[in-house]
Amino acid sequence: MKDLIITNKILNWYDINKRSLPWRNKVSQEKKQYFTLVSEFMLQQTQVATVIPYFNRFIKNIPNIERLSKYNDKKLIKLWEGLGYYSRVRNLKKTAKIIVKKFNKKIPRDFYELKSLPGIGDYTASAISAIAFNKPIVPLDGNIERVLKRYLYLKKQNQIKKEFLQDQKKIFGISTKRSSDYAQALMELGALICKPKNPTCNKCPLSNNCKAFKNKNFDLVKLKKINKETYFKLSVYKKNNQYLIIKNNKFNFLKNLNIFPMDQLNNPKNFDKDLNFKISNMNMNIKIEYKNNHNFDKNINWINPAKLENYVLPTLTKKIIKFLESQK
Ligand code: SF4
Repeated sequence: MKDLIITNKILNWYDINKRSLPWRNKVSQEKKQYFTLVSEFMLQQTQVATVIPYFNRFIKNIPNIERLSKYNDKKLIKLWEGLGYYSRVRNLKKTAKIIVKKFNKKIPRDFYELKSLPGIGDYTASAISAIAFNKPIVPLDGNIERVLKRYLYLKKQNQIKKEFLQDQKKIFGISTKRSSDYAQALMELGALICKPKNPTCNKCPLSNNCKAFKNKNFDLVKLKKINKETYFKLSVYKKNNQYLIIKNNKFNFLKNLNIFPMDQLNNPKNFDKDLNFKISNMNMNIKIEYKNNHNFDKNINWINPAKLENYVLPTLTKKIIKFLESQK
């Protein structure tokens, strides 16, 4: 009964307050499934406001799964440029190819079939199942996690681990009839009301039973994460004021993207870094070395720093070029 009350309160709030987002537009079922797939890939590491113009441009150029499966790789990366984490778009295309070939152009409804596709993990499979196929699942995204942590006042390290939160989310119950709306309603509540800073509890449908509200303590405890320190020696080759970059087939990060030639070092002594860069859970310490003659024979490009915006480059490469130019 209590579940039902929470569910209804949240859905009522959503009906009045939901944002109009392009992937929520009223469209055919088939389009809704495609929109959900694309938006969920984009939203994996990016905020809603940033995603909106990218999503609109993407859908305008690539309106369906079949088109995506055949879309030119370079143009695809260009459409994604600025969103970062390019492995997402490469996986999205791989997923589209499999859906066309193996699933007769239809996005699979089954959670495990979804999870078998490139770039789709537990969370994305849950989100697609709930939003696109109205399955009674509550996907645990950052917004829902925050609401849950505050509502139940979860502050200890063992209480904020994924597995514990996955179990605790049962407090929200499910909506069998409106599962798609319910998943989005919970996310929306976190995004608009139970915001990371200054939650607007006076507008929140959960304030009556919320422990954070009762204790007037909205602090969120973070899971202690260890950033791995890594060390790289980076080689700069310059010709006619242009920098040599190479397609990355060597490292697991920024795969197939253009980077400066680099070697990773193992716990070097007295490492004097020139700059550092954070990527995923890795802190890259980078030492730059200027060199004269290279012996790369393929997969290289020369970059004119004055025309940086004309190239599709990962942020790391752009940051290094800007650093090199600032040292002149
Ligand atoms: S009452 Fe406040 S802290 Fe509690 S869930 Fe609502 S917005 Fe978040």
